[in-house]
Amino acid sequence: MPYRAPVSDFRFLLNHVTDFAAVTATDKFSEATPDMTEAILTEAAKMCEEILAPLNRSGDLHPARLENGVVRTSPGFADGYKAIADGGWIGMSADPDNGGMGLPMTLTTAVNDMMSAACLSLQLNPLMTQGQIEALEHHASQELRDLYIPKLISGEWCGTMNLTEPQAGSDVGALRSKAMDNGDGTYAISGQKIYISWADNDFTQNVCHLVLARLPDGVPGTKGISLFLVPKFIPDADGHPGQQNSLRVVSLEHKLGLHGSPTAVMEYDGATGWMVGPENGGMAAMFTMMNNARLGVGTQGIGVAEGAYQHALHYAQDRKQGKAGGSGSIIEHADVRRMLAEMKSDIFAARAIAMMCACAIDMTTATGDATWRARAAFLTPIAKAFGTDTGIKVASTGVQVHGGMGFVEETGAAQYLRDVRVTAIYEGTNGIQAMDLVARKLMDGGEAARLLIEEVQAGSEAARSSNKELAEAVWQAAEDLRETTDWLVAQTDLNQRFAGAVPYLAAFARVLGGHAHLAAVIHGDAARARLATFYIRRLLPEVSGLLAHVREGADDLLAITPEDLAA
Ligand SMILES: Cc1cc2nc3c(=O)[nH]c(=O)nc-3n(C[C@H](O)[C@H](O)[C@H](O)COP(=O)(O)OP(=O)(O)OC[C@H]3O[C@@H](n4cnc5c(N)ncnc54)[C@H](O)[C@@H]3O)c2cc1C
Repeated sequence: MPYRAPVSDFRFLLNHVTDFAAVTATDKFSEATPDMTEAILTEAAKMCEEILAPLNRSGDLHPARLENGVVRTSPGFADGYKAIADGGWIGMSADPDNGGMGLPMTLTTAVNDMMSAACLSLQLNPLMTQGQIEALEHHASQELRDLYIPKLISGEWCGTMNLTEPQAGSDVGALRSKAMDNGDGTYAISGQKIYISWADNDFTQNVCHLVLARLPDGVPGTKGISLFLVPKFIPDADGHPGQQNSLRVVSLEHKLGLHGSPTAVMEYDGATGWMVGPENGGMAAMFTMMNNARLGVGTQGIGVAEGAYQHALHYAQDRKQGKAGGSGSIIEHADVRRMLAEMKSDIFAARAIAMMCACAIDMTTATGDATWRARAAFLTPIAKAFGTDTGIKVASTGVQVHGGMGFVEETGAAQYLRDVRVTAIYEGTNGIQAMDLVARKLMDGGEAARLLIEEVQAGSEAARSSNKELAEAVWQAAEDLRETTDWLVAQTDLNQRFAGAVPYLAAFARVLGGHAHLAAVIHGDAARARLATFYIRRLLPEVSGLLAHVREGADDLLAITPEDLAA
């Protein structure tokens, strides 16, 4: 079943749902004209459909492997990577002074969505590099920027992120990797990192690791962590990869999915590194890469959901079973129709949220405005968690639509589910995203949340005259969300907030999805309007149950003791 990139969805979201018109009206992004946007979407779609999608199965069947200390990648991945690099897709949003295209993150998000749908395990490589480029642009010295960024943008070199250690997963502050000052502007980095995505490959000339480590006087916790750029090959005087650095891939993990992406245990043994950002300021610098990757990983979930949906749709159009009526295919059964409608309408909602988040990032970049910055920060955990939860849910429903054929491997439905499962875990688990939302992102007293809710309600008011029932449903869900947001803000004991963090994030996403679908009722064709009606009448009501869960707080939850759970 060939992948067809959802270009018309992107066009619709850019034109009718997001703030993309405001983005392109800024000086910074004035080159993203309608013609340029169209060219980007159609060219990226072509590459994803014709070059990347045929590699997806290859990565699953022929995982990356470690041979004499070097990672050998899945058949065809080198060519796929070359197509991504040659197309300029790695540095789409990077600074043109370094060879990037300087285009809005909103367009990069659309392209990342398509690349993830086509071949998630390969796409993770340029995603990591994109994040590294942004971190270096903001925090590295001029010398490091000049040397590394052009090569990362061109794809000659690629980038990784190294946070996790055996005792330091979600709790990054527990890391033990050490950095010693060599006295010549470099540092000696030692320690073990685990789960490092794309820690090595056989198609780039160099692999540049951004590694978190602690200087001898670094205090315990996240405040004592610094960030270092540690290349596999130390660049020589001409900037070419020279001497091999003191680091190695110890082993690769055997995983549930994402087999084409090598996930490595890394050993750093006095490896030469250069500091990025200030001493003990490593977490702030790494957060630039992490925020980029959080939106990117949310987008991975949406892309995979799209691939899984297209497979399920095709199967449902073809498979004959029971007295289905009409075409005689299972798509005629009400329950199969429900599954497909849920999948498609949730993808639209999640994609709208990711694009809204990307627009807020672009407006922050273009204007430096604090309100846009707060909006981007608020939307990032929602885009990450809802995008990836949608990916998992849609891929699982995709298996269900296939019946037994979904559980056997030939159809590809199972691979989507296996591959996408990790997206809710890496880049900060979805639980951690939700906790970030209800704690740090409500530290403004709920201002960013309320501005979004007001926007949803203004959209509902505008739609009321033509679509009373649907507009009222979205308005009321937003009103309930406002009340619960106020309740959360009033909780000074953070556990009261954390107990309901995940349902709160899900409810917020549902309301934003309702907002996007209402725009589809107004601006879309009859098919979009019918799908939106389905979402608003059947999925949006979940909001009241989710918010009731939130307002229960923590008391009855924490009354269930660890012993109760083990009884
Ligand atoms: C395929 C793959 C690729 C990866 N790629 C990279 C990479 O490139 N670079 C990198 O540095 N790391 C990478 N990771 C690591 C990933 O980011 C971590 O697995 C993730 O952050 C979770 O850490 P953990 O596995 O130690 O789980 P834990 O932190 O042990 O979490 C276990 C459970 O406890 C919950 N939990 C933990 N702490 C809290 C808390 N304070 N409050 C509430 N709940 C909590 C979590 O949400 C989770 O459900 C990768 C992992 C995988 C599987």
